[in-house]
Amino acid sequence: MHILQKNYSLKSLNTFGIDAKAKYYLTFDAPQDFAQFFDQYPSLKLEKKLFLGAGSNLLFVTDFDGLIIHPKIEGIKCVHEDGNSIDLEVGAGVNWDFFVNYCVENEYYGIENLSLIPGNIGAVPVQNIGAYGVEASSLVYQVNGITLDTLQSKSINGKDCEFDYRTSLFKEKLKDNFLVTSVIFRLSKQPNFKIQYEGLVDKIAQFGPLNIQNIRKAIIAIRQAKLPDPAVLGNAGSFFKNPIVSENQSIPLRQQYSDIPVYPFKPGLVKVAAGWLIEKAGWKGSSLGNAAVHDRQALVLINKGEASGEEIFQLSQAIATDVKSKFDITLEREVQLIKAD
Ligand SMILES: Cc1cc2nc3c(=O)[nH]c(=O)nc-3n(C[C@H](O)[C@H](O)[C@H](O)COP(=O)(O)OP(=O)(O)OC[C@H]3O[C@@H](n4cnc5c(N)ncnc54)[C@H](O)[C@@H]3O)c2cc1C
Repeated sequence: MHILQKNYSLKSLNTFGIDAKAKYYLTFDAPQDFAQFFDQYPSLKLEKKLFLGAGSNLLFVTDFDGLIIHPKIEGIKCVHEDGNSIDLEVGAGVNWDFFVNYCVENEYYGIENLSLIPGNIGAVPVQNIGAYGVEASSLVYQVNGITLDTLQSKSINGKDCEFDYRTSLFKEKLKDNFLVTSVIFRLSKQPNFKIQYEGLVDKIAQFGPLNIQNIRKAIIAIRQAKLPDPAVLGNAGSFFKNPIVSENQSIPLRQQYSDIPVYPFKPGLVKVAAGWLIEKAGWKGSSLGNAAVHDRQALVLINKGEASGEEIFQLSQAIATDVKSKFDITLEREVQLIKAD
């Protein structure tokens, strides 16, 4: 079944809580409903399109003058299992943390560090979500979807998804042309915990012995202490990516700032903590109209109440310009801007 609505408010459909509108808003329960939709509404094929999950990584700077496509495909089903691992196919509309909890309860390992990341399954391979030393790329076995220009189903092997830091084939070559309908995740039946993240071992110990359930509890506790809850304070998590610079470029910065957090990325390249740069530039806790930089985590921009997307965008521009002038580092947004061309 599908539902098409016109001039639809997106306020409850993005975690910034921006009161933008979509010209058309389409939801559907099964991949075949989507494929058949355009038989009924051929003229909508020409509209600009946006795939929307839970809206937790988007900023609506303006209304969306086109068709928003929101899959509500549910279900978690086992498609293969042996003594070592299990493959679970999960619908694009399933909430990510619901799935993480399901795996933790069943002791399917590898996913526990990704607890409490907001959003739906469909966006997981697009974003290659990551946290606490684990990325979705290590779990995605296959991505199933529909190519928009042909409306044909297609499955892409995880190895071919061109995963990189918060990006993938779906955000680059296939951008806006591949609707993810389900993802097959391969989970391990043996533990291989990744608990090197600073402070994680101690936090786990507060909950009891080292096991998958206590790792999830510890990750949730750390995240809740650090990040504002979008249900209370509109935000989209980290607004910027941690910039990647050459080792050579990082040398003078390390000499000037002994406390600058710099992590190895790839040979010759390092990642610099964007939150540190923003805080050091003096932005933590500052406001621009109804938009602000969170006072506990400078990487997170917040909607103090009735902020417009434009206000949050302007704040992000001011921060990026200032960081560039102070450190000669370009901040790239992790959050996707949705605005009129
Ligand atoms: C408080 C908070 C904390 C966060 N912490 C983290 C974190 O630790 N690590 C991390 O990686 N991210 C984090 N995020 C960002 C966010 O949770 C992820 O990017 C998440 O995957 C977005 O999912 P979504 O369903 O909300 O996607 P949306 O925001 O709706 O969309 C994101 C992108 O995916 C595309 N998309 C969505 N669904 C589909 C689909 N079915 N098919 C094709 N394309 C699709 C959209 O077009 C868009 O380009 C955080 C966000 C918040 C608000």
